[in-house]
Amino acid sequence: MEKNIAVIKGDGIGPEIVTEAMKILDRVAEKYGHVFNYEQLLMGGCSIDVNGVPLTDETIERCKAADAVLMGSIGGDTTTSPWYKLPADRRPEAGLLGIRKALGLFANLRPCLLYPQLSGACPLKEEISSKGFDMLIMRELTGGLYFGNRKTEEIDGVMTAVDTLKYDENEIRRIAVKAFDVAMQRKKKVTSVDKANVLDSSRHWRKVVEEVAKDYPEVALEHMLVDNCAMQLVKDPAQFDVMVTENMFGDILSDEASMITGSIGMLPSASMNETRFGLYEPSGGSAPDIAGQNKANPIATILSAAMMLRYSFGMAEEADAVEGAVAKVLEEGYRTGDIMSDGMKPVSCSDMGDKITEFI
Ligand code: NAD
Repeated sequence: MEKNIAVIKGDGIGPEIVTEAMKILDRVAEKYGHVFNYEQLLMGGCSIDVNGVPLTDETIERCKAADAVLMGSIGGDTTTSPWYKLPADRRPEAGLLGIRKALGLFANLRPCLLYPQLSGACPLKEEISSKGFDMLIMRELTGGLYFGNRKTEEIDGVMTAVDTLKYDENEIRRIAVKAFDVAMQRKKKVTSVDKANVLDSSRHWRKVVEEVAKDYPEVALEHMLVDNCAMQLVKDPAQFDVMVTENMFGDILSDEASMITGSIGMLPSASMNETRFGLYEPSGGSAPDIAGQNKANPIATILSAAMMLRYSFGMAEEADAVEGAVAKVLEEGYRTGDIMSDGMKPVSCSDMGDKITEFI
């Protein structure tokens, strides 16, 4: 197969970690007989330096023309970088929001997997962490509380603020379909998280999710209230497969879930639209404190590339090979600084990429 990949290396550790992910993709192409063409594009601080803005129409158009986008991270040190002296809509992060909107990326997929080799980094009790967990949180990204009407005004002499949580049935249906589609490629279980005991928007959410579930008889659907879900994540994370939820609930729950995996440098993510198109990036930021030192952990970006193979290109075997190679490298004891522990073998960012390549 031949695929065109738009590559946004970005700022800070972005260029280092994306270079390693491209190394892995090249190895996959060689082994499985594919051709991956890359087009490198600017976004974030590096685009401000060259173009005066964090995101250009050219970058958006080139991304739209590609089969998928692979991204590193954008942004700099928010206290010292001159990028943060600019107005908010010209700062690096504005590029990120802009590209998600321009590409219609409404579904954010965050797998949270505890590798047995890293279970020591999990802050949960051993009796819980020893069972391991492997879940994927699907967060609605373009609606809900973060996008509803809001205002702050004085009412009868009292300053009052209001935010609105609104979802129409189409917005719910399209994310539910995505969740069930992904569950079909995993353990065939969907947990839909809401607050249906209080919120109308949640009762509506639940009803539409149940309608969608009828088209997926093989997938087990359960509903869970968001407060209970926050508890279940630390009590028994092994129970989850695919979790689907609205924007703000997903924001909070996905951070809670990433915390129990132990390291931000291990967590991939994908943002997708209705088609197979997606933008794949690590969950972490540009880590200016270690940028340019060949110290960053490239695994989150490499696993993001594996998600791209699986979800955008339909290359399940190739994605399994990349994920298997990551597990093997961890088993062999290779560690970047962020996941280092006693008795393990320290490696640089590029060494880590080389080791993973060797095992594919
Ligand atoms: P950060 O995720 O960049 O760093 C937090 C800590 O985690 C740092 O100690 C860093 O060294 C470490 N870390 C992160 N990724 C790592 C990796 N791959 N390997 C090893 N260690 C890693 O968060 P921050 O410091 O709050 O933000 C720095 C910049 O990144 C800011 O400009 C912020 O706006 C931006 N940011 C960008 C994105 C994105 O591009 N999607 C996401 C979050 C933050």
